[in-house]
Amino acid sequence: MSDLILFWHRRDLRICDNIGLAAARQQSPKVVGIFCLDRAILDRDDVAPARVKYMIGCLRNLQQRYREAGSQLLVIQDEPSRGIPKLATAINAKAIFWNWDVEPYAKQRDRAVLTALQQAGIRVENFWDQLLHSPDELRSGTGQPYTVYTPFWKNWIAKPKAEPVETLAITSLKQLTGLTAEEQDNANRSGAMQLLPTAKNLGFIWDNPLVIEPGEDAARQKLTQFCDRAIYEYQEQRNFPAANGTSQLSAALKFGAIGIRTVWQATQTLMENCHSEEMQANIRTWQQELAWREFYQHAMYNFPKLADGPYREPFKNFPWDDSEQLFQAWCEGQTGYPIVDAAMRQVNQIGWMHNRCRMIVASFLTKDLIINWQRGEKYFMQKLIDGDLSANNGGWQWSASSGMDPKPLRIFNPASQAQKFDPEGEYIRHWVPELRGVDTKLLLTGNITPLVRKTLGYPEPIVDHNLQQRKFKELYNEQKT
Ligand SMILES: Cc1cc2nc3c(=O)[nH]c(=O)nc-3n(C[C@H](O)[C@H](O)[C@H](O)COP(=O)(O)OP(=O)(O)OC[C@H]3O[C@@H](n4cnc5c(N)ncnc54)[C@H](O)[C@@H]3O)c2cc1C
Repeated sequence: MSDLILFWHRRDLRICDNIGLAAARQQSPKVVGIFCLDRAILDRDDVAPARVKYMIGCLRNLQQRYREAGSQLLVIQDEPSRGIPKLATAINAKAIFWNWDVEPYAKQRDRAVLTALQQAGIRVENFWDQLLHSPDELRSGTGQPYTVYTPFWKNWIAKPKAEPVETLAITSLKQLTGLTAEEQDNANRSGAMQLLPTAKNLGFIWDNPLVIEPGEDAARQKLTQFCDRAIYEYQEQRNFPAANGTSQLSAALKFGAIGIRTVWQATQTLMENCHSEEMQANIRTWQQELAWREFYQHAMYNFPKLADGPYREPFKNFPWDDSEQLFQAWCEGQTGYPIVDAAMRQVNQIGWMHNRCRMIVASFLTKDLIINWQRGEKYFMQKLIDGDLSANNGGWQWSASSGMDPKPLRIFNPASQAQKFDPEGEYIRHWVPELRGVDTKLLLTGNITPLVRKTLGYPEPIVDHNLQQRKFKELYNEQKT
């Protein structure tokens, strides 16, 4: 009889192109998936209901995939270093495989699970899967981790990339062997759930439809759609929040509903088959975004202190104003700056926000309202379907000028941003419906009279952009000296 290997899914909620799972399958056909609903994560105060609903949707899809392959995905709700060895022992698993993660909590949790499994005499194997290049693979000329994106990118793009694992190691996970009825009984007795809970059962209410369909098939479809058309215009279109110009793959990449090698291979195939330099430049720009994702994950892995505060030391004591009233207005999309309010209402209503707008509202919170970026970082995590510690923290530190950035002081002018990137006011009108009838020029510049604002029930600007940006610059320069 074949040995039972458990594969512990975490940020790799898929069957295909999964390095650890493929390795498990190579050693034994009897591979069973597990997922642990960890209250240490779910009980944090920065978990977005939309994200939990998306994750549960991915798990449901994964359960189905396991069933089709002849096995099962077991779900437990426990502290991982207790629940996983308990389940493994109950069903006599010989080994547990999983893919590494970069986040500080995940690293500490994994060490605890590893120790507990070793004590129980159960073999463990680990792999890097969620990145094209692991953090240990990329070092600067002096052997240090990178802290600047451009040299990171040059080294990263020059390195050969792995192909999707299904084409390398195994052609399919079909014909897995699952648990016997007796083993399944033992699994149930040790806490494996018969039914996957809903997000609501877990305490997360998201009644709006999910803006991104969960699961492996949906993620592959999104990639195909994006590669059919939008990728060829990405360089320009990615900047316009009213356009459908980006891939919307961030949630799938966060939860691993799609393998990064699959995504990379799709872009390389396009690159090889298109002979226009312009098209190639567009594809290359999108590849650079994938590299930003890896840059921030490497940064989080190498500098875990990023999770708790600014990268740049002087920023630790920055004298933020931190007005509660201004923060609430920002959260609710009631700042009186139309592009900022449109973006905040978008994230509140659908749990996703366009990248251009993430940069605008982050600059506004930190440079105009002079509110600590960590409050914005947390608010984003409470709302975003794709909320991801490394990317979110990287984006916020970049916007707040506290991070790894050779040219850190950037201040976005909301009016110029709106004029440039929402020139017809389409995005603003969609998300701030009370302003639909306002003349486009006034909408974009924000020069809407107090009387019109009052009539439409739209607030006065809560701060003066010019005054506030001057104040921020002064505070910033004091910190630097
Ligand atoms: C303040 C702020 C907060 C952010 N928070 C998150 C977050 O929590 N989760 C998240 O995935 N992204 C975050 N981003 C990055 C970026 O906004 C999103 O990845 C992007 O908007 C997702 O849309 P898309 O999938 O259509 O992206 P595309 O433009 O199609 O890009 C493709 C993929 O590349 C990655 N990517 C793109 N831009 C970045 C970037 N700047 N940093 C890291 N990865 C990137 C994402 O995985 C994305 O899916 C944040 C950016 C800022 C400025």
